[in-house]
Amino acid sequence: MLEDKNKERTPLESMGEFGLIDHLTKGFKPVQESTVKGIGDDAAVLDFKDHKTVVSTDLLVEGVHFNLAYMPLKHLGYKSIMVNLSDIYAMNAEATQVTVSIAVSNRFPLEALEEFYEGVAMAAKIYGVDVVGGDTTSSTKGMLISVTAIGKAREEDVVYRSGAKEHDLLVVTGDLGGAYLGLQVLERENEVFKVNPNHQPDLEPYSYIVERQLKPEARKDIIALLKELEVKPTSMIDVSDGLSSEILHLCKESGVGCHLYEDKIPLDPMVISTCEEFGLDSTLVAMSGGEDYELLFTIDQKEFPKIKGNPNLTVVGHMTADKEAAYLISRNDAQIPITAQGWNSFAKT
Ligand code: ADP
Ligand code: MG
Repeated sequence: MLEDKNKERTPLESMGEFGLIDHLTKGFKPVQESTVKGIGDDAAVLDFKDHKTVVSTDLLVEGVHFNLAYMPLKHLGYKSIMVNLSDIYAMNAEATQVTVSIAVSNRFPLEALEEFYEGVAMAAKIYGVDVVGGDTTSSTKGMLISVTAIGKAREEDVVYRSGAKEHDLLVVTGDLGGAYLGLQVLERENEVFKVNPNHQPDLEPYSYIVERQLKPEARKDIIALLKELEVKPTSMIDVSDGLSSEILHLCKESGVGCHLYEDKIPLDPMVISTCEEFGLDSTLVAMSGGEDYELLFTIDQKEFPKIKGNPNLTVVGHMTADKEAAYLISRNDAQIPITAQGWNSFAKT
């Protein structure tokens, strides 16, 4: 619905593979000390000296993970980097490099890839990571994107999913459910647009949640904040699939249980009002929505004074000795077992 029909369309075939790669990547100049060689050879060369290297990859497929009808390509480029940096930060590491691989069908002109790379470049600049390589190829249908993010951390700073202990506090950053609701709004507008192409969507009343969906930010700031507060989480994970599935991961890997308090789950007022409009339960949306890219972590209780009152951090529960038993404690004090209704990429929709 957002496609501009007046834009120029240079067919990719007219570029040649190497011309295309050069054209798209010529602006990428490494700034990280650890980047010895970036784009331009058979492989990048990195040097992390006395740090551990942290690596994570995500694959994004058109029609499964994104819909170009309402996802502008610039945002897609930005988001592709964010979802990967989020995984690096979830290890309490600093993101330093990314590689970006794309496969596109011939329905994509050069201008589309330029737009995508604008988003990539913007994310790389803001987050201080070098684009050090990638691959470019064709696909028979649609667009595929694979980003690999690389980061560094001192060995003693790395935080795994597996370190949570009984009595630890469970903490989440930011607020939850917005990205899922933003998607619901965009899909609703897209359905209307399909019937009436003259329909001009008014997304203004939903700006926060639409932005949460289209332009998420990875929580680099939280890694800096934790360092400043001198708090090392005992376990950590990023909230990409919804709170319930992430909590279950922490419980399983750490061999503990959890009590999560429904009334503590942080929700933006726009999330609450949009849930009312769509007839959705806001707790369910926060638990199962996904794509919020917040961080979920546990800390020892004695660290509580250090994080108390910080507007970025909300204590939502605590860990229990009851191995792998995670419960939502509802507003009326019922204990509801948390199930992985998070987000299952193989579920039929
Ligand atoms: P090879 O044939 O060895 O795979 P390429 O010609 O594909 O090499 O790549 C040449 C250089 O350009 C390499 O440094 C590679 O990492 C980089 N590169 C290729 N495609 C992309 C891309 N889409 N984004 C960023 N860098 C890329
Ligand atoms: Mg290649």
